[in-house]
Amino acid sequence: MNEQSILDEVYNTQLAMELISSGARMQVLESETSLSRRKLLRLYKEIKGCSPAKGMLPFSPDWFMSWEQNIHSSLFYNIYLYLHKTEKKRPIASLLKAYRLYREQCPGEPGEKPVLEFTRAWTLLRFIDCNMLEQVSCSVCAGNFISTRQYVNTTFTCSLCHPPSRASKKKSIRADATQ
Ligand SMILES: [Zn+2]
Repeated sequence: MNEQSILDEVYNTQLAMELISSGARMQVLESETSLSRRKLLRLYKEIKGCSPAKGMLPFSPDWFMSWEQNIHSSLFYNIYLYLHKTEKKRPIASLLKAYRLYREQCPGEPGEKPVLEFTRAWTLLRFIDCNMLEQVSCSVCAGNFISTRQYVNTTFTCSLCHPPSRASKKKSIRADATQ
């Protein structure tokens, strides 16, 4: 077992505490800190008062494409990119801060889960790192939105500008009006 410096251990414990309080699952804690699984489990129980959820993360890139999820994810990612570029902190520090700011902007109903949960936000950054997701510009508002690769070379319209299911209908109405 590697000997860890006291300062390293303090840093990792503080980071784990912040991650747990933000709603991170065990996979995130194990990947972002160098604390042992045993220590992380104890810390989790002390902070949350219960054991963490077991099992794999059932997340797929398609989740981020539903209209509401896409707006929340895109908002979060734009905050993250801005902080990451301007503050140049470690990615996990930018992620924690961006998530706090996102929750301030989208507090949701009291007692309800946020649309974008912390572990989901963490997964989003990993999907972007692996090129499974990327940002595309909306052809109408020019805002940057999360997208799967299929939209990269096509015209993308965000769900704030046009709900996708009605986009073709709106186009035909406009075409009629100009005739
Ligand atoms: Zn748009």
